Amino acid sequence: MAGTNVPLKCNCGAFEALLQNVSPRTGSHIHCHCQDCQTAARVLGAEDQLLPRAGSDIFHTTPAHLTLTKGQEHLACLRLSPRGLMRWYAGCCNTPMFATMAHTKLAFMGVWVPSMAPPAETKLAKVIGKVIAVVRTQDAPMGSPSLKEYGFNRAGFHVLARHVSALLQGRSRQTPLFDAEGAPIVTPRVLTKEERLAAQK
Ligand SMILES: [Zn+2]
Ligand SMILES: [Zn+2]
Repeated sequence: MAGTNVPLKCNCGAFEALLQNVSPRTGSHIHCHCQDCQTAARVLGAEDQLLPRAGSDIFHTTPAHLTLTKGQEHLACLRLSPRGLMRWYAGCCNTPMFATMAHTKLAFMGVWVPSMAPPAETKLAKVIGKVIAVVRTQDAPMGSPSLKEYGFNRAGFHVLARHVSALLQGRSRQTPLFDAEGAPIVTPRVLTKEERLAAQK
């Protein structure tokens, strides 16, 4: 059974993309409570899109499933440090969109679930599947609900399995976010150490 094509939209609607063939087999639904995801959301002023206890709702998949469809000129990229993940966002309204490596050697992309805008009749929870991992709960701020850490290794295994599968299909380096030479299509803004520390709580 083919997956569902899910439109992705920033908050203001100026930037749109399409994630094709979305299903629990083509990606993994995870919740990440790590300090870096929290810091990135804070820098972008997107804390209101976090789950309770500062979790990021993320769908791991491969970049070959992604097409940019509208407002590409708004796409921007943030790195918390020179070696940090590439955190792509819609600069028009600072909506987080994707996270990737800084290179195309690993076919990995995390998609910001709040940006998913499926047709009304589509049940997103069914399309992206149940949460297979809740990770880095030690970084979560105190509060409720209580969190149970699970699935870190499983999520990592899925990333590698998807990479190998993309490799075998000759699609591992296919991505609209990098050019043919493997350079990102926008120059990332890299936070200075001072900026990063100021954004951490
Ligand atoms: Zn926008
Ligand atoms: Zn994280």
